[in-house]
Amino acid sequence: MTSVFRDQHWIGGAFVPPDGSDRIEVENPYTEQVFGHVPAGTAEDVNRAVSAARDAFDGWAATSPAERGAALGRLHRSLTARADEIARIVGLELGTPLKIAKAVQAGLPLTVLAGYAELAAHPPVDEVIGNSLVVHEPVGVVGAITPWNYPLHQVVAKVGAALAAGNTVVLKPSELTPLTAYLLADAFAEAELPPGVFNLVTGVGSVVGSAIAGHPGIDMVSFTGSTATGRAISHAAADRIAKVSLELGGKSANVILEDADLVKAVKVGIGNAFLNSGQTCTAWTRMLVHRSHYDEAVELAAKTAAGYTVGDPFDPATRVGPLASAGQKDRVRGFIERATARLVAGGLDAPMPGTGHFVAPTVFADVDPDSELAQEEIFGPVLSIIAFDDDDEAVAIANNSKYGLAGAVWGSGERALSVARRLRTGAVDVNGGSFNPFAPFGGYKQSGIGRELGAYGLAEFQQVKAIQR
Ligand code: NAD
Repeated sequence: MTSVFRDQHWIGGAFVPPDGSDRIEVENPYTEQVFGHVPAGTAEDVNRAVSAARDAFDGWAATSPAERGAALGRLHRSLTARADEIARIVGLELGTPLKIAKAVQAGLPLTVLAGYAELAAHPPVDEVIGNSLVVHEPVGVVGAITPWNYPLHQVVAKVGAALAAGNTVVLKPSELTPLTAYLLADAFAEAELPPGVFNLVTGVGSVVGSAIAGHPGIDMVSFTGSTATGRAISHAAADRIAKVSLELGGKSANVILEDADLVKAVKVGIGNAFLNSGQTCTAWTRMLVHRSHYDEAVELAAKTAAGYTVGDPFDPATRVGPLASAGQKDRVRGFIERATARLVAGGLDAPMPGTGHFVAPTVFADVDPDSELAQEEIFGPVLSIIAFDDDDEAVAIANNSKYGLAGAVWGSGERALSVARRLRTGAVDVNGGSFNPFAPFGGYKQSGIGRELGAYGLAEFQQVKAIQR
């Protein structure tokens, strides 16, 4: 059994001992054994990290595009050299099956970081509006607070964009998956970026997270996680009018129109809903099917879900790993237990491996669009199928949600596109259009404020100044 012990924070360009002696243990959600630990940081650790980030800010903000692009290019190379280790650590601390861990958990952030190295080298040009010169400037010191479901991607989406725009960063990763972030700190150490541009303080949300959210030396808080925590962070930042960007939950609809390629729409839909054991904020957790294909879709969905192999993340045959924690498993099982819809696959009694926080890929049919199952973000492998009679009803059901993060539409070209335009969400995939790591990513409604990824993500970490001449 591999053990990973990290006893220091990364502050001011060095690994430094923490203020206190408390630790956070890291559990493998498949074996249910503790295999590592990190420091449980304190508010004093955050103070030190913010000071280091402030000291580094003027110098980093003044670097030329060529220098900044080259520095992020070096970071990308150092992180790329750790790709296998990233996939392995994410497999150990989160339980993502190895193939997906390699492609998504390691591959995606590397692609995103390469994009930010490029954008840093070619930043947005100053704009002339009448007698004004409009220039783009960094916001300052950014506090980044991230969740556990895509532990490196969510970090890099913030750190890459913030640094490319000339900010400096204090990061607090999730206490469930803090080890992956140390591989990023290792890459910073190797790539020799200026001390203090990136600082890592591990700890729990109520101590380190809230110290960041309320810190007078932090100019912007960039958060990904639950809507409840996003609300608390907004309140804390409001006191000093600090900028906030929030990537929150979702309850996305996969709309399968009358003239869709049904088999493809259902199979891709199931794959999306159960990716990362359903612990994906953009997961298409509501499958909306035209009534003429409804019975066929339910049967196919149930069969597809039942065919997904559940088990050891490091076994190449595994498609669905455990959930991230015992707490997450209990929460997801609670939703299944309270559900009143028709269970067609999975459920609480499906046979599961001997250890691990598993929930079987579960499908409910005839789900009431107003029920808890269809309204709340479950964050586990649970799909709800709902029938509709025409496009207007499909749009109404899809939009009947406090969330608005993502979604999908399947059907003939123009018709599917017109339904896509009517969905109140930050992203929609039409007929299997795949995730684009350079397109703006973010939510409508309670799914968030602001956008990440690509040029829009970079702009989020800038402010503009108008100079009149
Ligand atoms: P969470 O909100 O509990 O925690 C996220 C982060 O916030 C963690 O680092 C945590 O320690 C910290 N935190 C907790 N309380 C805090 C506080 N009071 N002040 C400051 N920081 C605090 O969420 P989670 O359980 O880690 O992640 C799951 C949730 O994240 C789901 O709801 C999911 O939809 C959402 N999510 C959204 C996106 C997106 O991009 N929209 C992506 C991934 C996850």
